[in-house]
Amino acid sequence: MMRAAIFVSLLVGAVLLAEGCAVSTNPVSGRRRLYGYSWEEERRIGQEADRQIVAQYGLYEDPKLAAYVDSLGQVILQHSHLRRPETPAAFRNTPFVFRVLDSPIVNAFALPGGYIYVTRGLLAHVNNEAQLAVVLGHEIGHVAARHASQRAFELQLGQVALLGGAIVGQEVLGLPGGDVLQLGGTVAQLLFLKYSRDDERESDRLGVEYAARAGYDAAEAAAFFSTLKRLSEQAGANLPSFLSTHPDPGEREQTIRALAARWRTELPAMDRVLQAAYYTRIEGLVLGEDPRQGYLDGQAFYHPTLRFWFPVPTGFHVTNQPSQVILTDHRQEAVLVLSLASETSAAAAAQRWRGQQGLTLIDQGSERINGLTAVYVVAEGKTSDGQLIRVLRYFIEHEGRVYSFAGYALQAHYARYQPTFLQAIRGFAPLRDPVRLNVQPIRLRVVRAARSAPFRVLLPELPRGFTPETVAILNQVTLEAPISSGTPLKLPQP
Ligand SMILES: [Zn+2]
Repeated sequence: MMRAAIFVSLLVGAVLLAEGCAVSTNPVSGRRRLYGYSWEEERRIGQEADRQIVAQYGLYEDPKLAAYVDSLGQVILQHSHLRRPETPAAFRNTPFVFRVLDSPIVNAFALPGGYIYVTRGLLAHVNNEAQLAVVLGHEIGHVAARHASQRAFELQLGQVALLGGAIVGQEVLGLPGGDVLQLGGTVAQLLFLKYSRDDERESDRLGVEYAARAGYDAAEAAAFFSTLKRLSEQAGANLPSFLSTHPDPGEREQTIRALAARWRTELPAMDRVLQAAYYTRIEGLVLGEDPRQGYLDGQAFYHPTLRFWFPVPTGFHVTNQPSQVILTDHRQEAVLVLSLASETSAAAAAQRWRGQQGLTLIDQGSERINGLTAVYVVAEGKTSDGQLIRVLRYFIEHEGRVYSFAGYALQAHYARYQPTFLQAIRGFAPLRDPVRLNVQPIRLRVVRAARSAPFRVLLPELPRGFTPETVAILNQVTLEAPISSGTPLKLPQP
């Protein structure tokens, strides 16, 4: 667990933006135009932000699957504009990194300069290698056509001002990232600049082209896009920006089929689908939230791997990230963040935090919390827009690590929230319940249909959190679809 280091990349971004725009080549069209960043700057931004992305999402721990996604990505890349003889060497020599993020949300995205991510949630919902080839090709397309850099050029003035404020807030108070307390500015705002619909259409076109040139039946991707549509209808607001600016999924399916058909006349060999091989690769994949990384049950948060738990005050919403657990008051007036301190003792961590510039010390001391050594500090500081914030910090030692609680509220509201903060912090305790310590995630199992029947009839009893509809979407079929005996099915298994 680390404190959100998002702001480091925002700082880099702001500096780069301040350097001004650059005239350079578009590797896809070959034409020269204005960009927010030079290609070299795009690579630096990507490198810096990659660390933040990995810290925030965590990598999915399956080296074989990671190597597979990277090797498929590298194959598709070889067929992209970035690896053609006529493309300038700076683009041809840029290495690409493909990563699998440990998130159940179905998502894929690219950072400038050659960093491409797919989530384990996306890999579970993809049905064959041809579909994944088009998804990776689509993301390579965003990087190759330099869409983020084009949008940054259009937006740059407003962003420098916005980021300036966010950075000051971070340096003084160590506030978490995101929009808590309305400080503004997230890695998403800078680096996942909203692509335009034309950008998305261009990336769809490029994704189909690159996958087709690599020998894949790119028309397969249409079925994956209809899966995305079903997911968005089901999840409503839960879906990420991946979908929000994309063209209408119905239009997309038709376009993908038409583009693939056109490539087929030129490349008759584009027939690779590879479903069975793909199913073997994703067998055992974690489905849904992984409780080993911490989970909420009723009004308590449990972490079986780090072996602690604490009560969650009513009215607080919990966001569990690999680097921190964020509890946000439903009125957005207070936030409590749990993370790991880098120091080896609670006293050292408290001393370092207390010594920061811009903080006024209000109170400090030490106490025992459920048998654990704890040191606390109360201090005040100002945000960039002049608001006075009071912070309650607790550093607690547990099994060789130092846990840091940080409760933030505007000074005017602090008295109301201190008892709530303390309820959670003083409830922090070692986890000893063997049932909770041994909790296991749901995993994807490939099972062959024992007979021919509609999909709905073939479903076994499903674990909590899964419905017949979610499993049908996972398999890219409808509930009433006729399934013939022997067809491999992706099922959630505890
Ligand atoms: Zn896209």
